[in-house]
Amino acid sequence: MIAVKCPHCHVGLKVDEKKLPSDITSFKCPKCKCPIPVSMLSQKEGEGTSSSDTVLLHLMKKGIGKITVLPNDETAEQVFLLAEGVSIIGRKSTKPSLTTIGIETTDRSMSREHIRIEVKKDPKGGYKHYLSDNNSKNRTLYNSNYLGEGEVVILNNNEEIIIGRTVLRFNE
Ligand SMILES: [Zn+2]
Repeated sequence: MIAVKCPHCHVGLKVDEKKLPSDITSFKCPKCKCPIPVSMLSQKEGEGTSSSDTVLLHLMKKGIGKITVLPNDETAEQVFLLAEGVSIIGRKSTKPSLTTIGIETTDRSMSREHIRIEVKKDPKGGYKHYLSDNNSKNRTLYNSNYLGEGEVVILNNNEEIIIGRTVLRFNE
């Protein structure tokens, strides 16, 4: 276990480094939902500070999938790990919303609750990822086609989803 403080909200976090996927560059603070760079873990190794508000991180299940937000003028690169169940993905905002994965961006053509990804266990042992548009204002491009109302597609590794002017890449 490595103890670190979230650089954004300063909550104490304990991270089981053995459960961190090797291919991510950041993870989400469970309290403030801001990304924390994985590089912070190696810097703080051995620092055993624990505070009363320490949160144990146990969200890193390998192979469950992740979304990478590709950087452009409006958005910095961000990586989000998917969890089993439904994630609502869209523009991060201070207004209340159902968004579970909030992307920090100035892309106003991205809705706050733009897409929905449901992760379900596959009987064969892996996971399947079901993408649908969440009644967004500007719709969702998947493999160069707009998703229809109520349409659900199964994501494959390395596929791209475009919401507003922002490209998301899905990886298993
Ligand atoms: Zn935080």
